[in-house]
Amino acid sequence: MATAGKVIKCKAAVAWEAGKPLSIEEVEVAPPQAMEVRVKILYTSLCHTDVYFWEAKGQTPVFPRIFGHEAGGIIESVGEGVTDVAPGDHVLPVFTGECKECPHCKSAESNMCDLLRINTDRGVMIGDGKSRFSINGKPIYHFVGTSTFSEYTVMHVGCVAKINPEAPLDKVCVLSCGISTGLGATINVAKPPKGSTVAIFGLGAVGLAAAEGARIAGASRIIGVDLNPSRFEEARKFGCTEFVNPKDHDKPVQQVLAEMTNGGVDRSVECTGNINAMIQSFECVHDGWGVAVLVGVPHKDAEFKTHPMNFLNERTLKGTFFGNYKPRTDLPNVVELYMKKELEVEKFITHSVPFAEINKAFDLMAKGEGIRCIIRMEN
Ligand code: NAD
Ligand code: ZN
Repeated sequence: MATAGKVIKCKAAVAWEAGKPLSIEEVEVAPPQAMEVRVKILYTSLCHTDVYFWEAKGQTPVFPRIFGHEAGGIIESVGEGVTDVAPGDHVLPVFTGECKECPHCKSAESNMCDLLRINTDRGVMIGDGKSRFSINGKPIYHFVGTSTFSEYTVMHVGCVAKINPEAPLDKVCVLSCGISTGLGATINVAKPPKGSTVAIFGLGAVGLAAAEGARIAGASRIIGVDLNPSRFEEARKFGCTEFVNPKDHDKPVQQVLAEMTNGGVDRSVECTGNINAMIQSFECVHDGWGVAVLVGVPHKDAEFKTHPMNFLNERTLKGTFFGNYKPRTDLPNVVELYMKKELEVEKFITHSVPFAEINKAFDLMAKGEGIRCIIRMEN
């Protein structure tokens, strides 16, 4: 490729300050160094995690920064030592990586890679502690190793999943974070038995994917819990059979759910990021066998409080990043589920905007409208 080894000038949406609209700027993207790849992003979408760190209300502020981690693109060039992918390969960037060498990568149970696990406060590459983005020589920081709100980005090779080139990137890009996270949280972690009752807290993209996972696993009752009732009708398409809005009740939602289910749900999956919902999602599971799984990203000062008796009564609490999927090993297979029509992703995509209008995607999320908004880099 003509651009390999050279600095690329391209457009990126830069967040200069917390909570201020992104501005499209010309940035310089340095060539990939050892074990890095440079990726041409074609489609990206907005996940709530981007918004938390952009608002930086409950998180460490790191600015100026290029956000974005849910995306699809094509490898433009590769750095020294990269053998797994080559220019032209279709890839999904992932906010957590898989080095394939560490004890976590070698364990069948973990996806918490020692080298490449998510680090939301780091704004530089792990190889040399520097940023690959700059404007007039001033560094612009990375976000979770992906920074996909840019026409080109540089990532560690362990954070890209090579996928079937036939898969339409404008659809499967949503599998690079939210949808796989929710789906895996239910299928890989909560593991609801056939015929069981599952509560899903938070019916955004992640929660709806968790509901979809419960449906695929054969759960018979799927109870959607959300403070925003406009989510409920949509959620039926994802397998939810009943709904609870905590605002409609003057007793704790744990009690409402226990009364609906003869003592508690068999499984619950929390996809809100709200600490109260996290505690409720644990306390609403049935004693003896209930399992709750936390997925939402909490406020940095949040503390989980519950009476220890809830554990002694044989309830289990778990948490997961990226639905326990190993990005490079497992994500290509999630894409194949879509290719085989076993998993529908179109129903998660409700909006689409050109890159120049990226701030509209933030507005939609702020209003709680739609599920995923695709941002088109080229048109
Ligand atoms: P979203 O904003 O689209 O959806 C969140 C939903 O939760 C909204 O519908 C909101 O009304 C609801 N909600 C908020 N507080 C609630 C409460 N107290 N009780 C009930 N419902 C409540 O967000 P999303 O993109 O679907 O992401 C969901 C969460 O998952 C976020 O916290 C995000 O950061 C996190 N996330 C985690 C991972 C991971 O790997 N663990 C990956 C992706 C996203
Ligand atoms: Zn590893």
